[in-house]
Amino acid sequence: MSKVQFELDGKMVEAAPGESIWQVAKREGTEIPHLCYSPEPDYRADGNCRACMVEIEGERVLAASCKRTPTVGMKVKSASERAKSARKMVMELLVADQPARETSHDPDSKFWNWADKVEVSESRFPAAERWSGDHSHPAMSVNLDSCIQCGLCVRACREVQVNDVIGMAYRNHDSKIVFDFDDPMGESTCVACGECVQACPTGALMPSSLLDEQQITRTVYADKKVDSLCPFCGVGCQVTYQVKDEKIVYAEGRDGPANHNRLCVKGRFGYDYIHHPHRITKPLIRLPNAKKDAMDQVDPANPFTHFREATWEEALDVAAKGLVKIRDEKGVKALAGFGSAKGSNEEAYLFQKLVRTGFGSNNVDHCTRLCHASSVAALMEGVNSGAVSAPFSAALDAEVVIIIGANPTVNHPVAATFFKNAAKKGTKLIVMDPRKQVLSRHAYKHLQFKPGSDVAMLNGILHTIINEDLTDKQYIAGYTEGFEELKVKIQEFPPEKMEKICGIPAETLKEVARLYAKAKSSIIFWGMGISQHIHGTDNSRCLIALALITGQIGRPGTGLHPLRGQNNVQGASDAGLIPMLLPDYQPVGRADLRGAFEKLWDQDLDPKPGLTVVEIMNAIHAGTITGMYIEGENPAMSDPDLQHAREALAKLEHLVVQDLFVTETAFHADVILPASAFAEKVGTFTNTDRRVQLARQVVKPPGDARQDLWIIQEIANRMGCGWTYSGPADVFNEMAQLMPSLNNITWERLEREGAVTYPVDDPHKPGNEIIFTTGFPTASGRAKIVPAHVTPPDEVPDADYPMVLSTGRVLEHWHTGSMTRRADVLDSIEPEATAFMSPKDMRRLKIWPGDFIRLETRRGAIEVKVRSDRDVPENMVFMPFCYAEAAANLLTNPALDPYGKIPEFKFCAARVEKIDIRTAAE
Ligand code: SF4
Repeated sequence: MSKVQFELDGKMVEAAPGESIWQVAKREGTEIPHLCYSPEPDYRADGNCRACMVEIEGERVLAASCKRTPTVGMKVKSASERAKSARKMVMELLVADQPARETSHDPDSKFWNWADKVEVSESRFPAAERWSGDHSHPAMSVNLDSCIQCGLCVRACREVQVNDVIGMAYRNHDSKIVFDFDDPMGESTCVACGECVQACPTGALMPSSLLDEQQITRTVYADKKVDSLCPFCGVGCQVTYQVKDEKIVYAEGRDGPANHNRLCVKGRFGYDYIHHPHRITKPLIRLPNAKKDAMDQVDPANPFTHFREATWEEALDVAAKGLVKIRDEKGVKALAGFGSAKGSNEEAYLFQKLVRTGFGSNNVDHCTRLCHASSVAALMEGVNSGAVSAPFSAALDAEVVIIIGANPTVNHPVAATFFKNAAKKGTKLIVMDPRKQVLSRHAYKHLQFKPGSDVAMLNGILHTIINEDLTDKQYIAGYTEGFEELKVKIQEFPPEKMEKICGIPAETLKEVARLYAKAKSSIIFWGMGISQHIHGTDNSRCLIALALITGQIGRPGTGLHPLRGQNNVQGASDAGLIPMLLPDYQPVGRADLRGAFEKLWDQDLDPKPGLTVVEIMNAIHAGTITGMYIEGENPAMSDPDLQHAREALAKLEHLVVQDLFVTETAFHADVILPASAFAEKVGTFTNTDRRVQLARQVVKPPGDARQDLWIIQEIANRMGCGWTYSGPADVFNEMAQLMPSLNNITWERLEREGAVTYPVDDPHKPGNEIIFTTGFPTASGRAKIVPAHVTPPDEVPDADYPMVLSTGRVLEHWHTGSMTRRADVLDSIEPEATAFMSPKDMRRLKIWPGDFIRLETRRGAIEVKVRSDRDVPENMVFMPFCYAEAAANLLTNPALDPYGKIPEFKFCAARVEKIDIRTAAE
């Protein structure tokens, strides 16, 4: 389609295909009022408020410029008297229905600002009947007396975030915005993404944090706004924080490449944990009489009870001397460190450098071991890169999207909105998971396979693709190796045989195989349902094989995307927080690769891989590791078989923990170093799409809390490292010398552009969102196809433990809950530990929702309330692992995948017993 030339206010202008008059006017610098239309974020124009009317020569009625597209030669007058007075009349009519500006909910709303611009302050028309307020939600207030029924909130909820909660109900004068069936917002199915609040132009929907105590009038106005990022998941949403008196009061979505102004409940309302009264604001040293006991728990009312305050000088000296003593007396292998996937790339890099040079071994790991280690192992083996091949927004270009072992509406909520957008556009979503989920409702098919039978199901699909000759032979010949071995091996796994193992009918497996293989573009997303198994690497091998034998990789709408969990788990892995790999996945055992690090760091490095997370805990029990430095990780909640992990932490001769709170891990520390929260630091973070993004400091750390980078450097220098880094930019510059993935990305470029996706070919070109377009970064340039065996889970149900326990997250809480359980809104929405069971099992066991059960496995038992959930299959209990008072990981199985060394969090045998509530409370 060609461009359209037309006249706007006497000047010839040009409209791109599909561009509205309003959009051209904006580009030309002409301001036209708009209320029901939102250009940023770019919502579908509706043309219902008529605030943007313009005159078109030869037409009898005025036109809504937000919806009208120009035609060749059209003459538009945006500032004629007729257009201006019509717009003024519209505003006057709308003002009539509003509370007076002085008492309005948001006197600084977009609505009142437009009223100022069109010079309307009061109305000659009678006021309409007023709706009363709804303050049932902990995060948002609804005051419909300000509602102009522009429908932006409806579009926000239904078309952008696709949550389908808000609608317009009733007729004529009674028509109004409703939640579900006109329920109070707080009792509706609202997931509190806040998109409606961000879209509302009048203050009818407001964040409660900006209103007075009665939730009526805005009393809080920010004194600064700072652009940064969300601290929670790997989606990497860009956020603008509003700050008043050094406190964050609200978070708005920015137009970042990953989120396009969208946020979820955590990013929008979960920011206040940094102001929690339990923040550690002074260094703490363990009291001499505070014995370490694995069974002892942090007292939530008084978390500091085992510690005394110290100066930084004293705390750093005690922390470092303890580590040096162990290193010098017991040897370098007696120390280990856990870095953090919540810290910046620069912090991760310095932390692993400290362990490799200051401690002297490769005993450094982080929580990637517990989330995608097996995915990375399979990807490194297959394509020699652990990163995703395409961003999650590639779903919008795909004909078929497979989402397996992932629950994105809970764990990657903003990414999930794009999946739902894709489904609305006609993309076939195929969700595969033992549990159903919100995305199942949007899916073409949900394959609810038996827990732990992933390889059987995927091999059945591979068998069909190969045996029905649906492979891409040219792609296989040009870019892969190992196909012949797969072709032979896969004959063991016909769909009819796999049906008996995975529970999915053979015909369904075949249909999915045909859909995926024949589509012009198919992409696979996966999560921890794939990786957290003893056969996690085999699961991922199957997914890689699917993409390779069909050529569904390296083009728009195709690829492999393990959805990364923590906000910087991709960056922390890239930066080398991995025991067997130096930064950028360079094996420690390769002398040729290690040499560059030894040269720049001026030190010989240990050529032997270090121990992984669970192996380190085992080594503590064995007495070979006696000292640890843990920065921002909480293994006392996140490790499998927690009793074993907590006993290990309690057994350590010297434990230094750097964190925001006295976490369950910090509780066992000898020294706690008060760190900076995400919003208190500057640094780069890499999201699941490989986007390196710059986070800016929003507020200062409280009290005497310090920057993590500074703390790591102080410890390093007390261990003899002699570092002189001046700040994150300085560290980034050193990383860029050693990490080819950062080629053409500089600190200055990040300051300028905010986000750059690696790899980047040229300092002036954007990064490559899609990789493997012409082969793979392997020695041969080909990807390796590796067949997978069908292996049962490590611990299958039996007569004593007849059910399956699977663990994961809930929308409102992140990981071990150390941040989100201290965020007011999040914890008030999901305040207590709950186990999820199928209604059928509950009926069978005579359990009612809200009853307490004793949930037991071979490693321990917890007592917890039950929630009925139809998405959970029979004979399964699902339990979030964020609740310290009922820590699910006390129960999980530490058995490891042999390649990724990741524990089998997703499957262990369990039993359930109903208990009397009084027994539970005792
Ligand atoms: Fe934050 Fe993830 Fe939610 Fe985005 S989707 S706001 S990054 S938690």
